[in-house]
Amino acid sequence: QCPWGTPSTTSISCSLADVMSEQLAKELQLEEENAAFPEVVAAAEGPFITGENIDTSSDLMLAQMLQMEFDREYDAQLRREEKKINGDSKVSISFENYRKVHPYDSDSSEDEVDWQDTRHDPYRADKPTTTPRRGFIGKGKDITTKHDEVVCGRKNTARMENFAPEFQVGDGIGMDLKLSNQVFNALKQHAYSEERRSARLHEKKEHSTAEKAVDPKTRLLLYKMVNSGMLETITGCISTGKESVVFHAYGGNSATEDKVIPPECAIKVFKTTLNEFKNRDKYIKDDYRFKDRFSKLNPRKIIRMWAEKEMHNLTRMQNAGIPCPEVVILKKHVLVMSFIGQDQVPAPKLKDVALSSEDMKKAYYQILNMMQQLYKECNLVHADLSEYNMLWHDGKVWLIDVSQSVEPTHPHGLEFLFRDCRNVSQFFQKGGVAEALNERELFNAVSGLNITADNEVDFQAEIEALEKMNEDHVQNHGKKLSTFSSDGDPPIYDE
Ligand code: ADP
Ligand code: MN
Repeated sequence: QCPWGTPSTTSISCSLADVMSEQLAKELQLEEENAAFPEVVAAAEGPFITGENIDTSSDLMLAQMLQMEFDREYDAQLRREEKKINGDSKVSISFENYRKVHPYDSDSSEDEVDWQDTRHDPYRADKPTTTPRRGFIGKGKDITTKHDEVVCGRKNTARMENFAPEFQVGDGIGMDLKLSNQVFNALKQHAYSEERRSARLHEKKEHSTAEKAVDPKTRLLLYKMVNSGMLETITGCISTGKESVVFHAYGGNSATEDKVIPPECAIKVFKTTLNEFKNRDKYIKDDYRFKDRFSKLNPRKIIRMWAEKEMHNLTRMQNAGIPCPEVVILKKHVLVMSFIGQDQVPAPKLKDVALSSEDMKKAYYQILNMMQQLYKECNLVHADLSEYNMLWHDGKVWLIDVSQSVEPTHPHGLEFLFRDCRNVSQFFQKGGVAEALNERELFNAVSGLNITADNEVDFQAEIEALEKMNEDHVQNHGKKLSTFSSDGDPPIYDE
């Protein structure tokens, strides 16, 4: 049978205009895609992709997949050629530098480190083979050294072959062309910067879509999750924030994961556009858990650390029994967790739900309890706790959005806690819970500290003094004060 299939109806004669119609072509294309990638297209049609780039998006992905396929073949061919040339020889040459190792290709969580960091210099000269060790050949006045202009020039010409394949060197290699060192070095410099320039252009294009929805790399990551059977379908976007986009997905039944995948999942994609993250530096930079790693990282890695942080924090909370999403998997800057809600409808935020006064009171005590657990058992301060990051589901409050959570010993940890307390107090006091502690009482109740200041300004000042004391202690003794130990004892500041 013909691999293209047999035309079903031959009776309808179609005009040239039809054949040339872009509209028709598009429809056919779409049909084909629908058949080939049902899940992905379904996802792509949702709010997953916004507005104008609806029909180009899946093309883009297909193109990328084809490119991946092409690159793989290209690399395979390179490998074959390498093998052919080297044979059994003990000394082998490598085409490594020409390989198109594709960033999407590796499943490892290793970063695609900026390539100029990792790539060896492709223009590094081969060991001279024409000049013997002693540095000269010939006898008497016929002696030629390695500095001989002709030999050197020829060698330089041959070295042009080391330039990247797309760099046009003309047919100089085949001729008896002698390049002076000066000319060669200028050429080499040019070839190098050309390659960097094209790589940069490519980079720019790759990231330009990140503003709209998710960038191609993320799309591919998501696609892979569907393709591997971990997720069944990605149905659409639940939330687009400044720093993240959250999708809903139905869990798959992939056999490879030892975990059971929840029937409904939330996928939090940390945005790879960098500017929004600048103001979050202070959360992570001073978090000692990330201290050693922060300084050496590029911005993309830092974004991954946010995702990683959220994962670790959720896991701690899970272990303490605090109602929160359960981590399914973390891939680069994409965190998959269980969905709080049902049938694609996310649980409402506390700010959006009208609770009875009884439920309101219940919610308050639950939160008080959770804040204490978070502090004492998880050794964490939420640091963005408010009615926006608490969901009401199954008759109780669930905590979400913990990527910015820090340990209490964080240099600003207590300030963050105080802010959390203020949000919670105000919300419940306004909500009519008479029993709700004020922010200062709540702070003491959660932290176990006993700050007696009776006004906000003094209270704040005492908090900052405590933080400073702790910092100084860390500076001088290299360890934290026992105040913050999570052993449950009432904390005391000792020197
Ligand atoms: P952001 O940093 O953008 O505020 P959040 O983690 O708060 O990120 O998520 C944004 C929104 O997405 C939340 O307000 C909530 O409505 C929804 N959401 C996030 N995670 C989940 C989840 N696991 N289940 C259901 N809804 C979620
Ligand atoms: Mn949030």
